[in-house]
This record gives sequence, structure tokens and C-alpha cells, in this order.
Amino acid sequence: MTLVEEFPGVRVRAPGKINVFLEVGARQDDGYHDLATAFQAVSLYEDLVASHADGFTLSVTGSVDTTGVPVDDTNLALRAARLLATETGYDGGVHLDIRKEVPVAGGMGGGSADAAAALVACDALWGTGLSSRELHTLAARLGADVPFALAGGTAVGTGRGDALNPALARGRFEWVLVANPDGLSTPKVYAELDRLREEHAAQIPPAPETPSVSADVLHALRAGDPRMLAEVLHNDLQAAALRLRPDLGAVLDLGVREGALAGIVSGSGPTLAFLVETRQEGYGLLQRLERAGHDAFQAHGPVHGARIA
Ligand code: ATP
Repeated sequence: MTLVEEFPGVRVRAPGKINVFLEVGARQDDGYHDLATAFQAVSLYEDLVASHADGFTLSVTGSVDTTGVPVDDTNLALRAARLLATETGYDGGVHLDIRKEVPVAGGMGGGSADAAAALVACDALWGTGLSSRELHTLAARLGADVPFALAGGTAVGTGRGDALNPALARGRFEWVLVANPDGLSTPKVYAELDRLREEHAAQIPPAPETPSVSADVLHALRAGDPRMLAEVLHNDLQAAALRLRPDLGAVLDLGVREGALAGIVSGSGPTLAFLVETRQEGYGLLQRLERAGHDAFQAHGPVHGARIA
């Protein structure tokens, strides 16, 4: 029996995320921004199967358009696998088979979820047995959103978003998401925010010295109250994303007119996240958005982080 027949692979699911609150500090000398965010993992999953191989290879499919996803060594999941191999001295390879449900370049951390899934799957496949703290350390080296995709649930992220503290959250929040065929580049959105802050200081609030998550957000999450959370959803990147993609503003207005409690640009966009009170109301909103020609889907949060399925 060959190795492949003996051991068909390890399957891991990892969630996408919504930043229900995101405050961005000033650009630092190294080009990065300090931020403070409240993450919620939502029920759109990246599904990854890792199987034994000689080299490092990848295939990508999905329910979303995956044409923008690199299948070479720049893919974040492959980088994660290689990093784990280097750090543990593992000298074999892996084939990763990814099925994406998270919109690509959509501001929902799909690539980060793939990287988190690859770390968990390869660690199990190769028997490298890293602790969750060690996996977290590797995750942070791959990207600011990767530790959260490992952890899942609800958490406050500071620093670049990778210093995580779990946040208490009760109940389940219902979302309707609107994807957009043309992704937005995260660095471009940050650069646009810097530009707006410099050139339109009168219209845009200045960068906070020490970004922090508002106590009202933590309170609403703890209460499990969507109406309360709707009042305090906030994203500093939203103005920049709307500047780059003015068409999104009309969709945000439409969602709220059609019954959402509130709408927000997810992370760096262009995915829009509408908070609704119940799953049934979400279904009504989804249908109205679809009738208006939008690519909408439902999700709920919080859900678990990357784990073996
Ligand atoms: P962010 O975590 O910055 O919010 P995002 O959710 O906006 O990211 P992703 O789908 O994670 O966007 O991908 C952003 C870019 O990263 C893509 O355009 C692509 O070029 C590159 N990329 C690398 N690896 C992956 C991957 N496994 N899946 C998707 N994109 C990837």
C-alpha cells in the first residue's frame, strides 16, 4: 500500500472574519499602522485538505471566484506549510487542496484563514506536535490576521491585529454579506486612508494616538444584542474604501433601507456586512439584495477557529 492510500489526508476548516470595530492609528516609519479591532469569526469557511507529497503544491477551487488566488509559492497557505517545515526540521512536502468560501481580496481574511488551516493541517499530517502558543507565533509571522483565524470566536486584536485577547460574547449574531467581483488591495486602502487624513483633515477624524476598541462594542458583544452592536459598528478604513469604490456607498444605503440594522465595510473591503436581528430577517434582506443584482449570502458568528474537520 502506498503512503497516500494509507493516509489520505488531514482536513481542516477555518473561518472568515468581520471586523465589527476597527480603529487605525497613524502610519509608522516602517509603513505599518497600529490598530485596535474587534474580530468576529463567521460561518464562511475555507476547507483545506493536506496530503503527503514530495514537494509543496496547491490546488484551489471554491464557491467564490478564485482567479485572483496565486497557486505558486506566494500563496499564503503554501508559505505557512513551508514555514512550519523549516521551523520543525520536517524534510518532506505536502499537497494542499483548498476550497474557498470566503470572497478573495474581500476584507474577510480568506488568505489568512488558508494559512491558519495549513498550519493546523500540516502539524497534524507531519506529526510535528506544536503547542497552540507555538502555532500562534508562526501564524503572526505570516500575517496580522492569521492568529485570529487560528483562534476564532470573538477577540480584540491590537498591535497590527495579531496581539489577541479573547472577548466575551453571548449568543449568535446574524449577518448578510454582499461580495463584490472586484477585490480591493489592503495596502491601497491603508494608503488611501493616510492620504485622506493628510489632505482632508477637516472632514476625516485624525488618527488616534493609541487605537482602542470602544467599551460600547465590548458591552454589545457581551450582551449578545444586535441592536446595541448595530449602533456602534465602526471601521476607520470605510471612508478610504468608499473613496476608492464609491459604488459601495449606494449598496450600503440599499441594505439599510431594505431592513438591515446597520451596514459596514468589512475590513479593507469591498465585502459589505449587514447586521440583522434574526436569521429570517436576514433571508428576506438577502432576497431583496439578490433581486437588486447583488451577490449576497448569509453567515453567523461567532464560530470556532481553524480546526480539524
Ligand atoms: P486581508 O487579510 O488583508 O483582509 P483579504 O481578506 O482582503 O485580506 P485575501 O482573500 O486574504 O484578502 O487575499 C488578499 C490577496 O492575497 C489576494 O489578492 C492574493 O493575491 C493574495 N493571496 C495569497 N494567498 C492567498 C490565498 N490562500 N487566498 C487568497 N488570496 C491569497
